[in-house]
Amino acid sequence: MKYYIFPVLLCSILFFSFLTFSQTSPQSSTKPYEDDARKIISEGLQSCKAYSMLQDLCLNVGSRLVGSPAAEKAVNWGKELMLKLGFQNVHTEVCTVPHWVRGDVEKGSIINSSGKLIPINICALGGSIGTTENGIEAEVLEVKSFDELQSLKDEARGKIIFFNRAMDKSKINSGEAYGGAVNQRGSGAVEAAKVGGVAALVRSMTMQLDNVPHTGSMHYVDTIPKVPAAAISTVGANMLDSLLSIDKNLKVKIQLSCQTLPDVESANVIGEIKGSEKPEEVIVIGCHLDSWDKGHGAHDDGAGTVHVIEALRLIKDLGLKPKRTIRAVLFMNEEFGLNGGIAYAKKDRPGEKHICAIETDAGGFTPRGFGVGADSITFPKFSKWSYLLDPIDAGRITRGGGGADISELAKLGVVTIGLRVDGQRYFDYHHSDNDTFDKVHPRELELGAVAIAIFSYVIAQEGI
Ligand SMILES: [Zn+2]
Repeated sequence: MKYYIFPVLLCSILFFSFLTFSQTSPQSSTKPYEDDARKIISEGLQSCKAYSMLQDLCLNVGSRLVGSPAAEKAVNWGKELMLKLGFQNVHTEVCTVPHWVRGDVEKGSIINSSGKLIPINICALGGSIGTTENGIEAEVLEVKSFDELQSLKDEARGKIIFFNRAMDKSKINSGEAYGGAVNQRGSGAVEAAKVGGVAALVRSMTMQLDNVPHTGSMHYVDTIPKVPAAAISTVGANMLDSLLSIDKNLKVKIQLSCQTLPDVESANVIGEIKGSEKPEEVIVIGCHLDSWDKGHGAHDDGAGTVHVIEALRLIKDLGLKPKRTIRAVLFMNEEFGLNGGIAYAKKDRPGEKHICAIETDAGGFTPRGFGVGADSITFPKFSKWSYLLDPIDAGRITRGGGGADISELAKLGVVTIGLRVDGQRYFDYHHSDNDTFDKVHPRELELGAVAIAIFSYVIAQEGI
């Protein structure tokens, strides 16, 4: 043991020196807004209030599929919370949204040539029509791309088209890997129907190997027959792939009871801190309040929802007085057609000017920085504040960014910005039963709110 005393002593001395250094050195700094940023970081990490907000949203409201009673409960939840926190101008703005329901029946099985039945985990894709009660039972054509499907179209008639192109693991950015695979989910049913397929079965959009299917939106085209579309778990997809290699005539059976009901009214939820000097200039901090009906919608986008509420709370409770208005907007229906984002951008707001909009919709993971959708002249007006975010390692401000909900504002010339986080695990959870509250870490979550509070506050003070 004694041989370890010296290294232990040395380590302790170094450690305490480091503590002393890190406690005293920042206070000698004179860079603009460093004191404010430090206060935001300290209060955020000390209280971690984003986490208790997320717990309440996930466990007392739950998943919030657009058009559902739970989504309406979420609207009230957001409004009540903003009122309780003392935000200004708290209100809702109505938008019309689709109302698709999953139904109780979601069953899939592989039936091999000898008649043996192997259950597979599937779930309907959002917007899909259902099957008849007896379901669809058909042989399977496996493809990796729409081009491959076209080349095999003579074999496609009457079959279930199995789209089995995995997300590309070589991509550093998991979002890019998702982008490279997700057309199978969105357009698989249309492409299947074009060649006479009777259903689309799509490999789940995740790099994780598990037995959990991931849902997400799909669409139809009026001139093409509608066929049902479902996601299969990655384990199920691999099993189906290997069984097909030895038994080409196996069949898959799918039963779905999902359906689309008439549109309903819902709303965006809005609250703000009015600017003390230029209230007409607005910085939006936004997220989407709706989620899929799988899991709790914790990372997607419960995390974003509490990020923006907590960011505004931090600024308000620390007594910071933004010169320009910072407005939290919980957009309704990002997942199924952006109705809230479109309604917000369309609304006439006399005398107001949006100077930028920041969206958080990448999960409650450790923030890394912001992607700024600005030209090379405007971009430095944002990137120059990276030193305020460096203490939490979130100072990576890069060009190109925004978000789905604020994309309509971008069309109006507003600079749109996306919070960037460490996204390696995002698609483990995304749109699935895995996306539950317990998958979110309180400090990682809070740091996202802290980053948004710092960035929106300094923009509110300095403009662009
Ligand atoms: Zn989302």
